[in-house]
Amino acid sequence: MNYAKLLAVAMNEARIGFEEGGVPVGAALFAADGRLLGSGRNRRVQDGDPSLHGETDAFRKAGRQTDYRDKILVTTLAPCWYCSGLIRQFNIGTVVIGESANFAGHPDWLREAGVKLVELNDPECIALMRRFIERSPTIWYEDIGVPPAPSMP
Ligand SMILES: [Zn+2]
Repeated sequence: MNYAKLLAVAMNEARIGFEEGGVPVGAALFAADGRLLGSGRNRRVQDGDPSLHGETDAFRKAGRQTDYRDKILVTTLAPCWYCSGLIRQFNIGTVVIGESANFAGHPDWLREAGVKLVELNDPECIALMRRFIERSPTIWYEDIGVPPAPSMP
């Protein structure tokens, strides 16, 4: 499987999200043979919906699937707890991660559930997310569920 080619679909969504002023995380769900089932992007800012992460958007766009074990979820950034929960809930078999330098995610929790992880460590994914975090730190910390300003005693 050419995972870089699959990542390009998610990366395109992330770029659109960045241009829209949103959190630039894109994702796509593929069948085992590489056929695209659905793609989406984080639209927390655009739609004012905190539950719209890249992974959940792609998952919803793909519609109902009878089995997820042979499916491939591609995301530009390591999945958060919420999206990791979705991956475990539906037993998605393979998760391709564009990068985990800006956000480590929870790889051990996914691996222990039998999820195959493919880390691409893609420089373009890293650079786009870095630009976003510098541009909009408040939105970023809100998205990953971290309080905005650490309170000093
Ligand atoms: Zn998420």
